[in-house]
Amino acid sequence: MRSWPAPEVPNLPEAGLPGPALPLHLHDTATGTVRPTRPGPTARMYVCGITPYDATHLGHAATYLAFDLVNRVWRDGGHKVCYVQNVTDVDDPLLERAEQTGQDWRELADREIALFRDDMTALRILPPDHYVGAVEAIPLIVEMIERLRSRGAVYEVNGDLYFPISADPDFGRVSGLTTEQMLPLFAERGGDPQRRGKKDPLDALLWRAQRPGEPSWESPFGPGRPGWHVECSAISIHHLGMAFDVEGGGSDLAFPHHEMSASHAQVATGRHPHAKAYVHTGMVGLDGQKMSKSLGNLVFVSRLRADGADPMAVRLALLAHHYRSDWEWTGEDLPRATARLERWRAAVQLPAGPPAAAVAAEVRRHLSQDLDAPSALVTVDRWAEQALADAGERDPAAPAQVRAVVDALLGVAL
Ligand code: ZN
Repeated sequence: MRSWPAPEVPNLPEAGLPGPALPLHLHDTATGTVRPTRPGPTARMYVCGITPYDATHLGHAATYLAFDLVNRVWRDGGHKVCYVQNVTDVDDPLLERAEQTGQDWRELADREIALFRDDMTALRILPPDHYVGAVEAIPLIVEMIERLRSRGAVYEVNGDLYFPISADPDFGRVSGLTTEQMLPLFAERGGDPQRRGKKDPLDALLWRAQRPGEPSWESPFGPGRPGWHVECSAISIHHLGMAFDVEGGGSDLAFPHHEMSASHAQVATGRHPHAKAYVHTGMVGLDGQKMSKSLGNLVFVSRLRADGADPMAVRLALLAHHYRSDWEWTGEDLPRATARLERWRAAVQLPAGPPAAAVAAEVRRHLSQDLDAPSALVTVDRWAEQALADAGERDPAAPAQVRAVVDALLGVAL
């Protein structure tokens, strides 16, 4: 599937800010600790993409932005980055929405994917190197189910195929939850713990046999369509192999989605782990409630843009909250970010400012420590304040250098 255009990323050493870049530390859900990532020359990252039945809301944007920072910090550290993202372009929520609104599910998906690309482009999110739809990945998914079947890790319930969690001794390692904690989450997040004929209530669907009126694809196990978790296992290991550096998504994906995807991949390949770190972003709320489709209280990036918000102010508004915290969008976020953006822009227009080396070092340090973007913003605030006050040492190279730091590491174009 076509990705979106990549923004230019300034090279800071070439801009006279050689570093050192610090190793990126991230919070890993599986161990519950902040640990250094140790990528090879090419860092490998998989981030779960959208199910395209509705526009990009601020919760999505905050998630993709967090992993955009991961990408930028690794690049600044001299790594190449291989970044893969999927699009769940066939699944129950999409088909249900198409049915409710009387649209063709493919047209709905195409339209929402196009809007997502525009939102990501406007927010200057670096695009994935492989942007892969579930539909185009069906041959990979079928092959993956065949691998699981050859290892005895597939069984059938009325024509549908399931994965027995008992096949994976490591099941539960990603989320660290108990069975009692897993069961309600599984029911809430697309699972079917009540279904009769399953060996374990937590066993996950791999292949759903064709139902009347639903799209289906041919396979060695009959016509049908893939389950959600196996989609991400198949796409990730095809493009990245096992033990890639980071798998990412919102905290509501830790269980069951990342747990199940890891389990499928580990059993299919006989190797583990699926990812070296599982990194999860907090939930964004609105006026005291979680922002969600069912509550109908979503704030869409496209709506903010249509209302005239500068996408760089939206980006700054999101960066002002730590990626791991749950937080609420209020009427104050955007005006505050817009004022900050204006101050920074005014400061980088000056003929000189305080030397930029300390700014680069501080921003690098904050981001390397579990992406502390809020502190990085304060660092730039202080520089801008001093620059605008025309106080202290002045360096004519500094404004352009700070602009490069803010662009390369925070992705904000001033
Ligand atoms: Zn996924």
